[in-house]
Amino acid sequence: MGIFSRFKKGLQKGAQAIQGAFATVTGKGRLDENSLLQIEEAFYESDFGVETTEEILDSIREAHRAEKEFRGEDACKLARTILGRTLEGAESELNLSQSNSPEVLCMIGVNGSGKTTTCAKLAHRLKADGKKIVLGACDTFRAAATEQLKSWADRLDLEIVVGHHGADSAAVAFDTYSAGESRGHDLVVIDTAGRLHVKDNLMDELAKMKRVLQKRNENAPHHSWLVVDGSTGTNGLEQAKAFHEKFGLTGLVVTKLDGTAKGGALVSIYKQLKLPIYFIGLGESPEDLQPFSIEYYLDSIFP
Ligand code: GDP
Ligand code: GDP
Ligand code: MG
Repeated sequence: MGIFSRFKKGLQKGAQAIQGAFATVTGKGRLDENSLLQIEEAFYESDFGVETTEEILDSIREAHRAEKEFRGEDACKLARTILGRTLEGAESELNLSQSNSPEVLCMIGVNGSGKTTTCAKLAHRLKADGKKIVLGACDTFRAAATEQLKSWADRLDLEIVVGHHGADSAAVAFDTYSAGESRGHDLVVIDTAGRLHVKDNLMDELAKMKRVLQKRNENAPHHSWLVVDGSTGTNGLEQAKAFHEKFGLTGLVVTKLDGTAKGGALVSIYKQLKLPIYFIGLGESPEDLQPFSIEYYLDSIFP
């Protein structure tokens, strides 16, 4: 399947309200008040957020007043333009340096957001690009977490370092870095335990991991990505701000966009956090982790 087809298929559910609303007003000439309300409803329903929805609808209403022949097609184009502007800066590529020591990427976030699977999918993807990667199973809190990453690693033939259940996660991160360094790897991908930002002891555990890694590489972690479950919308993004303050985030991964009718959540998440979205999750297979593309996203959302 091509990349655009993956976006389109993954965002099918998330785009249905928007596509439905625009489909009913296309080819019908000048928009009427009822259609404007329908469009507005669709943007709210899809979780684009109040601010973005208002901005889009204000622009559409203004153009509708000013232009006698303002049609559904024009409204669609205008909405697309505004969303493109809102998403400016959201794309980013993971470029690894050619230095002798590996870079470190920490995957963090709350329980169930998709950290572990994203670690495996990312490693698989980069490996296919010729990069040398080692995974660190640093969620030592749940016994099943290590097993989960290990089984991905077996399936995808990825290198992994694991610690025993209850081990100090910082120690496992340290060991993983050492393995990556001695094997001349490009990247060390650290899977961390899910945690809530209000649990100070767990936040301290992250800080400790960072301190320990910095003993080996003062720039580590080079990348700290927050994994956000796109199907829960902007609920709980307060946590993201706390993670950012305490740990310093460098980017986002927005997962599970395939499982929700709220495909606009990605826009509200970006608008709130203003961190580049490196990847999005469009399903459960390894190929469903895709670099975020504003163009593909918008082409999938709009008819
Ligand atoms: P609490 O200390 O009152 O929050 O009690 P809990 O039963 O929630 O947790 C006991 C200990 O287990 C905590 O002090 C943490 O060290 C650890 N812990 C609890 N929940 C989590 C979690 O979700 N992730 C990780 N990494 N550790 C946890
Ligand atoms: P963690 O607790 O943050 O490590 O989350 P996991 O990686 O264990 O993922 C939790 C569940 O979400 C698993 O069943 C994953 O297969 C699923 N998941 C992760 N990303 C996606 C995605 O992009 N789409 C779908 N449909 N499911 C996903
Ligand atoms: Mg996990």
